[in-house]
Amino acid sequence: MSLNLTVEDILKATKGILIKGNFKDKVDSISTDSRNIKKDDVFIALKGEKFDGHEFVKDAILKGAKGVIVSRDVNLEDKAFIIKVQDTLKALQDIANYYLKTLNAKVIGITGSSGKTTTKNLVGRLLKLIGKVYVSKENFNNEIGVPLSILEAEKDVDFLVLEMAMRGKGEISLLSKIAEPDIGVITNIGWAHIGRLGSREAIMEAKAEIFDYIKEDGIAILNRDDSFSMKIYERLHIKKYTFGFEEGSDLRGLILDKGKESYTLGLYFPDGKRLTLSLPVYPLNIYRNLLSALLVLWSISPESIYRVKEDFDFTLPKQRLDVKRNKDGLVIIDDTYNANPDSMKTAIEYLELLDVPGRKVALLGDMLELGNYSIEGHKEVIEEVLKRNIDVIVLYGQEMKKALDEFEKIDWSKVHWSDNPEEIKSILRRSLQPKDTVLIKGSRAMRMEDFVKFLEDEY
Ligand code: ATP
Ligand code: MG
Repeated sequence: MSLNLTVEDILKATKGILIKGNFKDKVDSISTDSRNIKKDDVFIALKGEKFDGHEFVKDAILKGAKGVIVSRDVNLEDKAFIIKVQDTLKALQDIANYYLKTLNAKVIGITGSSGKTTTKNLVGRLLKLIGKVYVSKENFNNEIGVPLSILEAEKDVDFLVLEMAMRGKGEISLLSKIAEPDIGVITNIGWAHIGRLGSREAIMEAKAEIFDYIKEDGIAILNRDDSFSMKIYERLHIKKYTFGFEEGSDLRGLILDKGKESYTLGLYFPDGKRLTLSLPVYPLNIYRNLLSALLVLWSISPESIYRVKEDFDFTLPKQRLDVKRNKDGLVIIDDTYNANPDSMKTAIEYLELLDVPGRKVALLGDMLELGNYSIEGHKEVIEEVLKRNIDVIVLYGQEMKKALDEFEKIDWSKVHWSDNPEEIKSILRRSLQPKDTVLIKGSRAMRMEDFVKFLEDEY
């Protein structure tokens, strides 16, 4: 980081008071983690669920911090400066917004129920064709991560690509206020976090908050194939474009040819430009992420779409539909990062699409945070996997069980259930054959990656 700010700037940004130090002292980097403090960083003491950063202020100074931002009185013998603010988290956000305004970067904010990280990476790869890009790191997508990402961006970046996640109402609005996007993308409105929000409409409203603080000449990019996204589209009064496979999409995708290992995707841009790409086989939802990313590039620089090469790197982030093989030739689709009903269905569709010699097996774990919709959400996923051409279905967890109980008849020769990880392993041991392809997916807390490891190493 080289923020090139001064203590005076920090005071202006945060409305804090200087307890000790000089107005002209430089502030070039800010850290919230006393463990990773580097010399001359400024330590900001955040209060977390488990720890209060104020307990580590002295530690930070010992490690070379040149100043601290706190909301409680602290005694420091050292020459480090002390800035006191009302609320240190708000201060971090204010500083990020202040720094952002010193940059000359376009901000692309990405939210949605599924596909945010995938889309963020794709947007990053595409914008690299026309400028210097900073893409927020893996989990830096909340009220702490977004400001930290902004502060990570170098002074001369042209584009700042930020994932914006939420668990409840008002959170995206805050992120929009901090980052003031030039372009806001909503990948889709699905089911994730419905437990907290209560309905799809409420999820829609929460995602639409990305446009609360969009720049006046900003652009909205929305999914034409998703009816809830289109409700947002209809009421927006800014420049707006849609992507999708349905007729009428501003950027329309069409699968022109289906090969065994790749599909030919035709892309039809709003100004009549056309592009054809040959891409690895994926469900349409995954291609939709690319459509939205291409629309971002096109909306900034229409000509640049011709710089996208035939061999465009469409690799997904780790633990997303990642195809691996163990030594016995078993194929494992590692999609263990997280799960909600939409991403589950997309992953199941992927398993069905794959052209592989052996049988197809789905190991699906509980999806959490669905609240009152839990049974319905799990039921839908089970219906989906039963409907698809999947040979063996292994369900893991209590929520799966509750949903299974709702079915009148289940073919137990094909479906297995347990909530005990060791039992799941023995089910796998009993039922898998070499050359089978196994999809593994479930919510983060279900630790589905342990089963990937088991199949890779021990099985
Ligand atoms: P999180 O909320 O956990 O950060 P995310 O929105 O960042 O998730 P990704 O990490 O990009 O989403 O993708 C998660 C999973 O969702 C992928 O493994 C894939 O199975 C599925 N997925 C990706 N894109 C889409 C999409 N557009 N629609 C539905 N499912 C998708
Ligand atoms: Mg993500």
